[in-house]
Amino acid sequence: MSESAFPRTHAPARPGWVYLVGAGPGDPELLTLRAARLLLEADVVVYDNLVGQDVMACVPAGVERIYVGKKASNHALPQAGINALLVEQARLGKRVVRLKGGDPFIFGRGGEEVEELVQAGVSFEVIPGITAAAGIGAYAGIPLTHRDFAQACIFVTGHLKDGSVDLDWAMLARRKQTVVFYMGITQLPTICAELVAHGLPASTPAAVVRRGTTRAQRVVTADLATLPEAVKAAGITPPALIIVGDVVGLQPRLAWFHPEDAA
Ligand code: SAH
Repeated sequence: MSESAFPRTHAPARPGWVYLVGAGPGDPELLTLRAARLLLEADVVVYDNLVGQDVMACVPAGVERIYVGKKASNHALPQAGINALLVEQARLGKRVVRLKGGDPFIFGRGGEEVEELVQAGVSFEVIPGITAAAGIGAYAGIPLTHRDFAQACIFVTGHLKDGSVDLDWAMLARRKQTVVFYMGITQLPTICAELVAHGLPASTPAAVVRRGTTRAQRVVTADLATLPEAVKAAGITPPALIIVGDVVGLQPRLAWFHPEDAA
């Protein structure tokens, strides 16, 4: 990354600042230039379990790393603790990179962390990342919108409280749109059943993509009637994204990323 090819549009990382940085969906080449540069300039990187090893390999040796990853039911550090840690590290005068999978403001609790920084009077910047839906759509061969099939695309959390259903299923089951569920894989049978119960044909194409854009990417495509069984048979576990809509029908023809062929 030469300075002449990519002129700087922002100041270098500043001591006592927090940079809330989107790491993208996994492939380190999907980091923004700004993210890559901030990783080189950081004193400390605070990161989640969704940030893959290949991205962490871009952090220079010697830079302090603090893991605050959490899985659905097993919080390594509660959100309040993460917020406090960021404030504390910034007040020590460090250049703090808070690295999050995908985009920090899409199901990333970035808003909560920034609210805390504002309240504490800590200076910060937010650097967007490629969210999982965009990265996976591209790498799996699923255009999220398409003039023939989908005029809208909805990102929704499938992490249903206590297994109960508080989503607007009627809205999600409309035709001519693509619905992307984050954090929904453990609720997949409920999600497919509710979409059909609210009017989508059982034959609607649907896909699950695990660890998209990485060498471990796996794609299972089926329809709403058969997807849960196909995913179970394939042994897919989180993190995975569910994509529902007619655009998924294009996947077999448009898929181009075959990580098993990669060197
Ligand atoms: N801020 C992140 C989303 C965090 S929520 C973003 O913008 O992408 C975590 C969920 O994101 C996971 O449960 C999964 O549904 C999805 N996800 C993130 N990275 C993924 C990947 N590489 N492959 C598949 N799903 C992914």
